[in-house]
Amino acid sequence: MSQYNGVDYFNIESLISYEEKMIRDTVREFVSIEIIPVIEKYYAEGKFPMGLISKMANLGLFGSNLPQKYGCVEMNNVAYGLVMQELERGDSGIRSFVSVQSALVMYPIFTFGSEEQKDFWLPLLAKGEKIGCFGLTEPDFGSNPSGLITKAEKVDGGYLLNGAKMWITNGSIADVAIIWAKLDGKIHGFIVEKNFKGFTAPEMKGKHSLRASITSELILDDVFVPETHLLPKSTGLKSALKCLNQARYGIAWGVMGAAMECYETALTYSKSRIQFNKPIAAFQMTQEKLVNILTEITKAQLLNLQLGRMKDNKTLKHTHVSLAKRNNCEKALEISHISREILGANGIINEYPIMRHSANLESVKTYEGTHEMHTLIVGEDITGFPAFE
Ligand SMILES: Cc1cc2nc3c(=O)[nH]c(=O)nc-3n(C[C@H](O)[C@H](O)[C@H](O)COP(=O)(O)OP(=O)(O)OC[C@H]3O[C@@H](n4cnc5c(N)ncnc54)[C@H](O)[C@@H]3O)c2cc1C
Repeated sequence: MSQYNGVDYFNIESLISYEEKMIRDTVREFVSIEIIPVIEKYYAEGKFPMGLISKMANLGLFGSNLPQKYGCVEMNNVAYGLVMQELERGDSGIRSFVSVQSALVMYPIFTFGSEEQKDFWLPLLAKGEKIGCFGLTEPDFGSNPSGLITKAEKVDGGYLLNGAKMWITNGSIADVAIIWAKLDGKIHGFIVEKNFKGFTAPEMKGKHSLRASITSELILDDVFVPETHLLPKSTGLKSALKCLNQARYGIAWGVMGAAMECYETALTYSKSRIQFNKPIAAFQMTQEKLVNILTEITKAQLLNLQLGRMKDNKTLKHTHVSLAKRNNCEKALEISHISREILGANGIINEYPIMRHSANLESVKTYEGTHEMHTLIVGEDITGFPAFE
């Protein structure tokens, strides 16, 4: 097994089942062996480690909380969350890949698809034989997707899609895209295959964040989508938001994996770095930083566990997920900043993972609803007043 034992100051381990622990430890070891040794290289090159896809599929990490009937593992949601936490200890880009495949491609097909669509696509996606992406955001519509202008028009035997999507994770490496477009003014999901005529997915370059993840534009220029590729149960923006809620759930867990890696790195470093004839861990201000980090990690761990239990017993509301995504992303980003400080100059170099996590977390805080959007979602829930406009 790997050396890494996680961060668990409150023995939260005693609150998870044997099976959940086994799943977590399997992914933890996978991350230590397969991701951490290579990730800096891929990050520097701005490439996604494609060789990981079949390995993650073999571990059952795609659509892992969906039914076995479709080739998935059907783990509970706490185990699913722990998987995300461990993957993001490796890199937010790897967790993003799995989140998109699972929560934004398999989940919508499972939830809004026909039986034929589920039988065909889900086993292929679970095996990693097909890669998916999720196209909601457009150049002029990010936080407010209700305004999206990608259009579907009914034609003989199917639909004609026109429009452009932006910031799409996995876009250029995807075999299939879930595209959200307006048909007669109402948003629906469509399964668009990469070889459909008129569909292109140019990669977006120049990112300082999530460099080991592919981000793309999607261009739809008179793309004919057969009738069989409309997600029949997708009805309006609510359907797309339900998918985002699944992904946000995974993010709430995931970012704490990155935060734990930053904390572990800073703690270890502080014990061996000598200044003024003492380890810097012996200074009160360093201890305060470490204690503040540990406190935020512990609070988020307890929040995540309850979030997962509520998801499993079906009492979870999307507003709970918003609160957790909002808090945990903000705290993980702060933790990465403080951890970087503790390493001094060494904090900026790629010998240590902190700066990479920190840069990644900037995107994670923004995507799947910014901090402000989740403030407004929870704000509306507790006051009854929508304040989006
Ligand atoms: C690396 C990466 C990967 C992504 N992957 C995907 C993907 O796979 N699929 C997909 O569809 N999208 C994806 N996105 C897009 C992402 O979801 C959007 O970037 C996000 O929703 C924010 O939209 P925006 O960038 O257009 O910001 P804007 O909506 O322009 O917001 C800019 C700022 O204004 C604030 N703001 C906006 N409205 C309000 C308001 N009413 N009150 C207060 N503040 C407000 C925002 O909070 C933000 O701080 C990805 C983004 C990134 C960076």
